[in-house]
Amino acid sequence: MSSDLSGSVALVTGGSRGIGRAIALKLASRGAHVYVNYTSRPDAAEEVVAKCRELGGSADALGFDVSSSEAVDQAIDEIKKRSSKLDILVNNAGISRDGLFIRMKDDEWQQTLAINLTGAFNCSRAAARLMMKARYGRIINISSVVGEMGNAGQVPYVSSKAGLIGMTKAVARELASRNVTVNAVTPGFIETDMTHVLDEKVKEQTLANIPLGRFGQADEVAELVLFLSQKESSYITGQVIGVNGGMHM
Ligand code: NAP
Repeated sequence: MSSDLSGSVALVTGGSRGIGRAIALKLASRGAHVYVNYTSRPDAAEEVVAKCRELGGSADALGFDVSSSEAVDQAIDEIKKRSSKLDILVNNAGISRDGLFIRMKDDEWQQTLAINLTGAFNCSRAAARLMMKARYGRIINISSVVGEMGNAGQVPYVSSKAGLIGMTKAVARELASRNVTVNAVTPGFIETDMTHVLDEKVKEQTLANIPLGRFGQADEVAELVLFLSQKESSYITGQVIGVNGGMHM
């Protein structure tokens, strides 16, 4: 299968760090023009843009908060103005607010849902308007293995990621007639800033449940996203595909 994305336009939310960074680099290296979204770290986003260019691709940083529907609509309008289209949307931006369920604060629940689930809703809805008109699109939602399995200490995060799986299937059904595919990728434990902060005991326990015996790398998630981003993935929609070292089968 070829992996030529020349002429394609992609938006990767949370493209400034971790898994989103690896996805942005992968898509740019295959010829897509990539909009690298961020909220708090313009420096990190600019580093990704520079790296995309080094790899022979093209990219722009685009700062906005995915949880604000107004900001998202403006950003998609900006992409339309600059590039006239959007072929690929990767809903990757996410946060995790962990702790015991009974002690979880209202704002921890709301913030996690607002970014992880409402953020993907905002971006998908705005992008779908362009994609439906063009009768082509690829939407890839970065959910999580814990959205499939559940996980103690992560009630808001798990709820947002399970919700994202439901949203993937519902949106896939609505957009299929316009040749827009929508799929979810569920990473397991991937070494990024998000997992770096976990304590060693949690890491040890997680590792004991991974048949491949190691944590994953962001690039291993990006490979699957690249596959789903291509026009050749045309008969795959509404699917939930794991990249988890066998942690969940
Ligand atoms: P990360 O290293 O913490 O990076 C998070 C990214 O999201 C950053 O680029 C951040 O931008 C961006 N972001 C956060 N809030 C945002 C908002 N409101 N609007 C726009 N962008 C926002 O996380 P990661 O580990 O790469 O995770 C990426 C995705 O994969 C998340 O959805 C996460 O839930 C999912 N995932 C991760 C793992 C794992 O093991 N790491 C496993 C399963 C699923 P700034 O740089 O501007 O802060």
